[in-house]
Amino acid sequence: MADRRPVVGLTPDVGETLARPARPALPQYELKQAYVEAVLSAGGLPVVLPYSDDEDAALQAVALCDAVVVTGGAFDIPPEAYGAHAHRMIGRLKPGRTRFEQRVLRAALEARKPVLGVCGGMQLLAVEVGGTLWQDIREQVPGAADHEQKIDPRQPGHSARVVSGTQLARIVGVDIVQVSSTHHQAVRDAGPAVVSAIAPDGVIEAIELPDRFALGVQWHPELMPGAEHLALYRALVDAARAPVR
Ligand code: MN
Repeated sequence: MADRRPVVGLTPDVGETLARPARPALPQYELKQAYVEAVLSAGGLPVVLPYSDDEDAALQAVALCDAVVVTGGAFDIPPEAYGAHAHRMIGRLKPGRTRFEQRVLRAALEARKPVLGVCGGMQLLAVEVGGTLWQDIREQVPGAADHEQKIDPRQPGHSARVVSGTQLARIVGVDIVQVSSTHHQAVRDAGPAVVSAIAPDGVIEAIELPDRFALGVQWHPELMPGAEHLALYRALVDAARAPVR
């Protein structure tokens, strides 16, 4: 038999089925196939993590995983999570999803499992370690570009400079990455996390914890062509293979 693939837990979104006459919409998990394909291509075995109000269920689910990806979505993290009041441009919240992803992320960090936070997942990683967010880039960051690109998210929206000496720099192996940009919020203060990529307008595009594999990227590497993007998933799976540090 082939080598065991490291198990990579993915956090799904919650949507609902299409309502029809006499058939009400039912909640359903949603997950872009690109996450699954990226993990498979990187040599991992993707599994969908279940929502539960039971803290212990999250712990046990994460315990079955060798690594975790906190995925992004079209929603904002409640500002109370980082001690802020809601700005008027705050977007849609999904408090149930945020609670679920906080449980998963906390359990993964506690167990020192490798973590990749994508888009909103990066923002949650920043908040989890004590950082803060810009609630709306256009309103709050003077001179910033529009980070909600109007083109196919599989195409780059802008570039980002990779900070030398970071784990990200080692992984992608280039100084400049072309990244997709589908976010209206951004990390404001990364807290104890290291900033590892920055857009030309100064917006933080990647962070990492210095002492372990816990990386966040503001773009969607699973959607982007280019070896430097799949390299992030490969690095996650490789870290998942190593014994827990
Ligand atoms: Mn961006």
